[in-house]
Amino acid sequence: MTATRVLVLNSGSSSVKYQLLDMRDSSRLAVGLVERIGEETSRLKHTPLTGGGAESREREEPIADHEAALRAVADELAADGLGLDSPELAAIGHRVVHGGLKFTEPTVIDDAVLKEIERLVPVAPLHNPANITGIRTAQALRPDLPQVAVFDTAFHTTMPESAARYAIDVATADEHRVRRYGFHGTSHAYVSRKTARLLGKAPEDVNVIVLHLGNGASASAVRGGRCVDTSMGLTPLEGLVMGTRSGDMDPAVIFHLARVGKMSIDEIDILLNKKSGLIGLCGDNDMREIRRRIDAGDEEAALAFEIYIHRLKKYIGAYYAALGRVDAVVFTAGVGENAAPVREAAVAGLEELGLAVDGALNSVRSDEARLISPEYARVAVAVVPTDEELEIADQTYALVGDRNA
Ligand code: ADP
Repeated sequence: MTATRVLVLNSGSSSVKYQLLDMRDSSRLAVGLVERIGEETSRLKHTPLTGGGAESREREEPIADHEAALRAVADELAADGLGLDSPELAAIGHRVVHGGLKFTEPTVIDDAVLKEIERLVPVAPLHNPANITGIRTAQALRPDLPQVAVFDTAFHTTMPESAARYAIDVATADEHRVRRYGFHGTSHAYVSRKTARLLGKAPEDVNVIVLHLGNGASASAVRGGRCVDTSMGLTPLEGLVMGTRSGDMDPAVIFHLARVGKMSIDEIDILLNKKSGLIGLCGDNDMREIRRRIDAGDEEAALAFEIYIHRLKKYIGAYYAALGRVDAVVFTAGVGENAAPVREAAVAGLEELGLAVDGALNSVRSDEARLISPEYARVAVAVVPTDEELEIADQTYALVGDRNA
């Protein structure tokens, strides 16, 4: 029997998201999520997608750690005849947030690779430890199976030094590995490639600005399929205004808050990562709620929206200049795919740059990749739904398929 299934695991600090895909046709066999791992009541939501209906099953029970979580997931999959012991399972693909400079490609995990991911914990203290736990647990469950790491940073390793280096003392930067790494790379890679296809061109022939606007948000400039700049930096804090992160600001704000505001470094870290961005500006981080409030005349929400859009526009302009020629500006992720007012406002007034949005096309709701710019516009504006799990599964299967060939 040929093994054609790939299990994709995205392990966070207290959650595991998973999808089982059949790579013959890239179809989903099951999807699910375990939340609140280690808390009093954890929750597992499992949705088998085989055999017509998509009836979800939910369990609320204490799930102590990632190993227990993965065992619970394995049980749910087994109940649908999709168990991890199946000979049809070809590999497990893991999302790994930080791959530093070393991992430029998806990589089959062995001890040396795990050690290197561990070595990167100081630059990704919130993410890499959870990813490592996920990998270890999956290895314990299926030691014989290839496990592949797909890195959020990999797509950005093509950035030139001029974009990746911060203008600080080189020796200090190098000693502490301080530079722009960028994140959401799997999404930026997938979406920029799909945009080229939407334009009927090869990725090598198009320059694209990708705006990944989810709860976390980042922009990237992609020239001929290779990333040349991205807005997130050493950590995901830099760049756009996000749901709960500030994005760009004068780094001296931190000294000021420490010296004058007497805040500790940990307090400032929490302030900028969890209590800033849209939630800091208006108390809500969900764009749907913010739009509702604006429609009801709420000025605080309106100002938060304006600040969000102003930053977005600055990045479109900056990456336009960095690329010189732009074929498409593309919106993706929760906000980018769904919030027509964000797309309209981000492009408004940029006609001189060849950018425009067609109101009717922009208001269409669809899961498909689509153009929303009018025929006459020199630069295409597109909405391309991202699919990080499919991209991880594809990259995993491509690697393991080669190995088995
Ligand atoms: P994450 O970064 O957590 O993966 P997503 O890409 O799923 O996030 O985006 C989640 C965000 O998308 C929500 O916080 C919300 O602001 C936004 N969003 C989702 N659906 C809509 C919608 N219909 N209209 C406007 N915004 C939406």
